[in-house]
Amino acid sequence: MREQKMPKDTLYNSPSYYDVAIIGAGLSGSLCAQQLSRMGWSVCVIEKSRGSGGRASSKHLDQNTSCELGTPFISIHHKDTKPLFASLVEQGIAAYWPDAQAYVGIPKMSAITRHWLTNSDLITNTRINSLEQIDYVEQGSLATTDIWRLYDEQHQAIAQAKFLIVTIPASQAVTLLSTTQQIDELIACAHQAAQTTQPQWAMCLDTEQSTLPPILIPKSSTLQRLVKDSAKPNRRQGHNGSERWVIQASPEWTQHYLDEDKNTIATLLIQAFFHETQLIPKKTSEPHRWLLARTDVYNHQQPFMWHSPKNIGLAGDWLCQGDAEGALISALGLCDYLNQMRITR
Ligand SMILES: Cc1cc2nc3c(=O)[nH]c(=O)nc-3n(C[C@H](O)[C@H](O)[C@H](O)COP(=O)(O)OP(=O)(O)OC[C@H]3O[C@@H](n4cnc5c(N)ncnc54)[C@H](O)[C@@H]3O)c2cc1C
Repeated sequence: MREQKMPKDTLYNSPSYYDVAIIGAGLSGSLCAQQLSRMGWSVCVIEKSRGSGGRASSKHLDQNTSCELGTPFISIHHKDTKPLFASLVEQGIAAYWPDAQAYVGIPKMSAITRHWLTNSDLITNTRINSLEQIDYVEQGSLATTDIWRLYDEQHQAIAQAKFLIVTIPASQAVTLLSTTQQIDELIACAHQAAQTTQPQWAMCLDTEQSTLPPILIPKSSTLQRLVKDSAKPNRRQGHNGSERWVIQASPEWTQHYLDEDKNTIATLLIQAFFHETQLIPKKTSEPHRWLLARTDVYNHQQPFMWHSPKNIGLAGDWLCQGDAEGALISALGLCDYLNQMRITR
């Protein structure tokens, strides 16, 4: 994209100018927002969906109920993420679920990212489609400042910032990063990770109460995992005291049925659920297809990437562990790096 010289008044007017713009309000983007706003940076987070959480979000089923069709819980083992969750538990934002030996958000998973976004500007329902770095020269000065401008699908400028952090899944990152120049190293890294992305169908079902354990992992089945969502700490029961299950198809099965219509998927998943549990669902949600559910980690030395010449960084699960905790380690690593390098706003 062409670089422009901008007069100062334009720079600080519209759209709003921030120290840092973060693309994606999943676990990694939201935690970056919390860490950097704590350091005194002004932060804007732009998210394409209606709310925060990404693959750790909660889907509304009706006015009062929601379920977690993405990660059902967050397993925490790392020295840097343990204090993070100790603090969330203390504040009542998360709880330990002994059945999973992992944490969940309270009253739902998206409470965690919402909490981390408290001190940042969050722009939702906005997909960033292209990036541009503008070389700004202040009048009467020889110094130049590079400013990032972020555009939506209508090529409307959404935000401006000195620093840019991209926290979206690898294959989406490749497309977005390719709209700007001189960051080939970042694009190559995202491209490599994107090759390993796996999809996953997931669905929510309400059943009668059962004595089945809250987490079932069948040996060889259409289903990879069955999680009793209503057994999580501080969760509402389904309607009339029923149980709520979230079932996730195996990535291999999903790949095979990737473009199948949702009615067929629902029928096949309900059959598989009955096969595993002998339970007949009273109510079911529409199946959800996660095209970019999981990604193997691109084997980089650091759990994040930072490109100093262009003031742009990458964080996300695909840079560390390929899971929810990895997304958090990645975000912490990047923010710690920015802090230690004394990168000034
Ligand atoms: C079905 C399923 C089961 C899982 N099970 C587990 C599990 O058991 N344990 C575990 O640890 N992990 C699990 N995971 C993985 C875990 O959910 C992810 O590793 C983690 O949530 C990734 O967080 P992230 O911030 O890196 O990315 P994301 O959550 O993907 O966040 C990226 C955000 O960017 C937004 N976005 C994308 N493109 C744009 C754009 N152009 N403009 C603006 N916004 C954009 C997206 O909407 C999203 O909100 C599971 C995932 C799925 C889908």
